Amino acid sequence: MPKSILKKVIVSKQIHSSEFLKFMPAREKKELLEQAFELRGKRVVHVNATAAGGGVAEILKSLIPYLRSLGVQADWYSINPEVGKEFFTVTNKIHNALQGAAVKITSPEWAEYQRVNKQIADDLDKIDCDVLVINDPQPLLAGSYSHPGKAKIYFSHIDTSAAFMPVWKKIFPVISSYRKIVFSNRSFVSGGLPRRKIKVFTPAIDPLASKQKIITRKEARHYLKNEGDIPPACPLVAQISRFDVWKNPMGVIQAFRMVENMYPEARLALVGFNEAKDNPAAAAVHKDVAAVAGNSKDIFIFFDPKGKNIAEFTVMTQNAADIIVQNSTKEGFGLTVAEAMWKRQPVIGGPASGIRKQIQNGKNGFIVKTPEELAEKVIFLLSHPKKRKAMGKAARKTVLQKFLFPRLVLDHFKLYKSCLK
Ligand code: UDP
Repeated sequence: MPKSILKKVIVSKQIHSSEFLKFMPAREKKELLEQAFELRGKRVVHVNATAAGGGVAEILKSLIPYLRSLGVQADWYSINPEVGKEFFTVTNKIHNALQGAAVKITSPEWAEYQRVNKQIADDLDKIDCDVLVINDPQPLLAGSYSHPGKAKIYFSHIDTSAAFMPVWKKIFPVISSYRKIVFSNRSFVSGGLPRRKIKVFTPAIDPLASKQKIITRKEARHYLKNEGDIPPACPLVAQISRFDVWKNPMGVIQAFRMVENMYPEARLALVGFNEAKDNPAAAAVHKDVAAVAGNSKDIFIFFDPKGKNIAEFTVMTQNAADIIVQNSTKEGFGLTVAEAMWKRQPVIGGPASGIRKQIQNGKNGFIVKTPEELAEKVIFLLSHPKKRKAMGKAARKTVLQKFLFPRLVLDHFKLYKSCLK
């Protein structure tokens, strides 16, 4: 067991507020600056499971510099990966149960979850803060044990609309003990939680991040040829996601096989670099997916980073692909969808609530429920480049209006203030 369970995540990136205020309408800009003035000097501490890999780490990486640029003293701590596989296996089970899987968690597993969280709480108590923000279930108990009486917020980033009851019942009283509880979708809010504590707003993507760069298709395809051996001229379909059953990569392969009947030269890239330390199940899902793909030369699977620049590879794939799919069955939000839409890609998404929030079916992308529908929409977009372009334009507009970071920062400020009152 490492001495310290919490590790400070060093965020050295510095930005100036003028760089992002330009993405805001005048009224919201004024409101953001007023809120920032009132929160100036306050210490906000965010805690999550992992410093890299997955949407929450992606958000915090940007949120911390944004908050600091507006005068808030923001810091980020994540759980030391050396805490061990047992802990992350339990938290993965809790995650899956909260998303609706019927998972049995044994007494020793609950005990492990509590034991590590007690230690996280000890570490947390040594950290000074005005607002403590706990992201997702891994450090959930720790937040409730530590800093009694302080302004504490729990962020639930996953789809809890049909949580598995035996696990939800254990977690529910802990979540209720927080002063504010944030969900990314109203349908995720369980009836039993006190209404006055609930806030609902979606995450967002950072327009200043290198991840969101627009790169010419030619350059991006050249990169994928060099770094991933993907032929530069073939129609390319891609899903960028951790290897996770909820992301349904198997369904993507099934659909792709149908697409190949029409477009035999098409290729599929499944990009899910194994970066997060809190996801021991990824290796198993990857193994199953690789087995189904077999020795097919048409399917490219990226799992082991092997010295690759993950962020660069990701942004290149998002720009290079002819079609981006995100075939998830459950998704708290799905940053990968907004990221691709920002790059003018009309995403074909699964029926997950988080994705429905972003895609207006037939306008800026498509929502599909089966591999057949997915294949049909991939073929449609490949055969209608003008329509694809128009939908891509609409996709970018949606993100600009609803899912960009400055709006998220304003939501955070309002939240912190409501909590400090
Ligand atoms: N991501 C990445 N490379 C990968 C897979 C994922 O950079 O190979 C990033 C992706 O760009 C996004 C985040 O990981 O920023 C995933 O967030 P999302 O909300 O889509 O899903 P989560 O992993 O949190 O369930």
